[in-house]
Amino acid sequence: MIPRLLLALLVLLVVAACGFALGGFTGVLLATNGALVAMLLQDVSRGQQLERWLRKGDPKADSDLTGMWGEFVARIRRGYKTRDQLAEQHQHRLKEFLEAIQASPNGVLLLDEDGRIEWCNQTAALHLGLDASRDRGQHIVNLVRNPAFTRYVSQGDYKSDVIMEGRSNSLSQLLKLQVQLHAYGDQKKLLLTRDVTARAQADQMRRDFVANVSHEIRTPLTVLAGFVETLQSLPLAPDEQHKYLDLMAIQASRMQGLVSDLLTLSQLEGSPPPPVTELVDLKPLMAQVKSDALALSALQGKDGQSMHSLAFQMPDHLHIAGSRAEIHSAVSNLVNNAVRYTPAGGHIEVTWVLTPEGQALFSVTDDGVGIAAEHLPRLSERFYRVDRSRSRESGGTGLGLAITKHIAQRHGGTFQVHSEVGVGSCFSLTIPENRIKCVTPDTRDVVLEDSHH
Ligand code: ADP
Repeated sequence: MIPRLLLALLVLLVVAACGFALGGFTGVLLATNGALVAMLLQDVSRGQQLERWLRKGDPKADSDLTGMWGEFVARIRRGYKTRDQLAEQHQHRLKEFLEAIQASPNGVLLLDEDGRIEWCNQTAALHLGLDASRDRGQHIVNLVRNPAFTRYVSQGDYKSDVIMEGRSNSLSQLLKLQVQLHAYGDQKKLLLTRDVTARAQADQMRRDFVANVSHEIRTPLTVLAGFVETLQSLPLAPDEQHKYLDLMAIQASRMQGLVSDLLTLSQLEGSPPPPVTELVDLKPLMAQVKSDALALSALQGKDGQSMHSLAFQMPDHLHIAGSRAEIHSAVSNLVNNAVRYTPAGGHIEVTWVLTPEGQALFSVTDDGVGIAAEHLPRLSERFYRVDRSRSRESGGTGLGLAITKHIAQRHGGTFQVHSEVGVGSCFSLTIPENRIKCVTPDTRDVVLEDSHH
């Protein structure tokens, strides 16, 4: 500015001197006025040029302004650039922020002061059956037509959440949502949704389980209490007393069986999978299972003779790395079931085979009552029984297959059932290759060494 001012004064001085030389004081006045008007016109024209350039609004546009006006253009350009960079940074941050909210497993929805949707992430859209872009600007209560939700929104007290049904893609599974509103900003609201279906199912399962256990215990307990009352109130002959005591013993052992199965289940659930370091020799284990099965079968007859033909087959030296108690429990559950659900005279085949893939396949095949197809998927659920009275009569707790499946899975294996009503059933377990060892007396030390590493 200062050099330009000096220059202007210098020009005026020179012009004044020339004017004085040419026409005295009048010449000075005319010459300086003319020069001032010329300078003013030049600035007005440059000012207009700057205005035109500004109006384009494009900082990259060319401008041939120089000097002071050129400096204006350069500074405005720098201002534009800084503003654009800041805007870009904010845009980038906003994008990252929205991406983070999109990645959230919970639904996030922003409502304006009138309850209209401003923005929502995909999860919220999925939970509430919305279209994230199409439904923007719509009233949330018009779109989420759920009485519990409408009541929650209208009551205006958002300290607690509301549990409601959500929209799920699959019709077979109902979505349970936990929804809560939080006020923020100027009367705006943040709506959070969380899928609590698994938790609701677990709660339901726990309630069913407690109800089942109570029911299972109550039945023998009622019978037992009835017998106690009879013994207390009636003068019975000794043989009658014995009869009642025998019946009481049956009920007591039913309760014992139930409690023991429940304990087994809770132990299985609460402990880590069995280590691969313990080797279980299947030969003596199966011998034990066989003698127990023969005894159980004999109990069904009158003369102490086994009522079924039982065939056991397995390769020599087969060992499984796992828990002896668990494998015994899984295997004997299946064999005993075959005895209990096969009428007298039936055939039961129990085999262990090594598959070409290196797994061990254990199967129990019977020609007993069989199971209708609709029951098969639910057989290993706790307390699921096809024929309640038959199960109870033969001392069943309804937990055997649940325990067996659990044990198979803890050993990395699987549990399968094939069955047909009136034809028979085949229950099988597979144990994966990494838990199978063939240990002959000569290799025993080497294998045991190996399995300890
Ligand atoms: P339970 O103690 O009642 O036998 P399980 O869990 O062992 O309980 O078996 C569940 C149900 O599966 C039984 O109640 C029975 O109806 C059916 N079941 C199991 N094994 C057999 C089998 N070998 N043949 C026919 N039905 C079977």
